[in-house]
Amino acid sequence: MIDLRSDTVTQPDAGMRHAMASAVVGDDVLDRDPTVERLQEELASLLGKEAALFVPSGTMANLIALRVHCQPGDEFICERGCHLYTYEQGGYAQVWGIAVQPVDGAHGVLRLDQVASLPRPHNEHFARTRLLTIENTHNRGGGTIQPWQEVDRLCCWAHENGLTTHMDGARLFHAEAATGIPVQRWAAGFDTVSICFSKGLGAPVGSALVGDRQRIEQARRLRKVLGGGMRQVGVMAAAALYALHHNRSRLSTDHLHAQLLAQAIATTPGLALDPEPQTNIVVFRIDPSLATAEQFVERLQEHGVLGLVFGPQRVRLVTHLNISPEDVGYAGDAIIKTAAVLARSGHNPAVPQPRLD
Ligand SMILES: *Cc1c(COP(=O)(O)O)cnc(C)c1O
Repeated sequence: MIDLRSDTVTQPDAGMRHAMASAVVGDDVLDRDPTVERLQEELASLLGKEAALFVPSGTMANLIALRVHCQPGDEFICERGCHLYTYEQGGYAQVWGIAVQPVDGAHGVLRLDQVASLPRPHNEHFARTRLLTIENTHNRGGGTIQPWQEVDRLCCWAHENGLTTHMDGARLFHAEAATGIPVQRWAAGFDTVSICFSKGLGAPVGSALVGDRQRIEQARRLRKVLGGGMRQVGVMAAAALYALHHNRSRLSTDHLHAQLLAQAIATTPGLALDPEPQTNIVVFRIDPSLATAEQFVERLQEHGVLGLVFGPQRVRLVTHLNISPEDVGYAGDAIIKTAAVLARSGHNPAVPQPRLD
């Protein structure tokens, strides 16, 4: 099976397993774990920030960040399709009592004129607007890279208006690989940034929150109350360090592979890229006369390729380090064949589809 459902399905290779097996470890809750310390220092310096905190997941990194920036009764502004609003159970409300003002972006991209009037007046009727969040690259947007100039404008506006800023950079290294803009520059306007090692970088586990020393100390307390204090976790930090050193520089290969898949999709009747891929995520729309997304994914699986249903008529494919050029060629052919088989056989007229976003 060629698994294109997500870049989280990668398997640690022999080098990564060796790094994990030989990691020097300590109790990272009681004292500190030296390998975790090394990872945190290296990542902080890479992003041009004072400190970093290793956490089990991107969800926890975002949840902690939201509480670092906001108190109960505060609110944040975000793009409606973003991960921390759409895919994290509303944890900001469930766990912290924080409110939100989501805004519709174009494939995940917010413009300053959309948010400039959103901060609420300071009076007792309103939640206190505290924070602006931006996701880069944007997953639901189709791996979209935020336009650098607009990000810069948004962060300046936020700080001038008394808001703080957080970037969900689960795939920030993909934005770096695609644009040549270093992660440090991408991070410059943000008070905190979350990073995932478990996505395209290919580590089995782990994310980090990066920011100034004071916020990261507060984040450490919050990690503990969420049950995210981990002991000899240098074993995992070693995998994350290995991923940074060995897999960061190869992300552009995944982007090239995404372009090759996109070419196959673009030339197939009944399929349309939505949008044109910019990084390692390929999202396409299936004409309802051909099939639903669910039917398409089922048929594609019969040809040995796994994709993800991303909406009633949308499918997501993600390239990653376990996908070879041969796999990409095979998957492109499988997509074309699947569409052709469906076009010949016809399918049951569209039944109402459950909302998946
Ligand atoms: C995957 C992802 C997360 C959450 O990461 P988990 O480790 O799965 O909790 C957050 N933001 C974005 C954009 C992601 O793609």
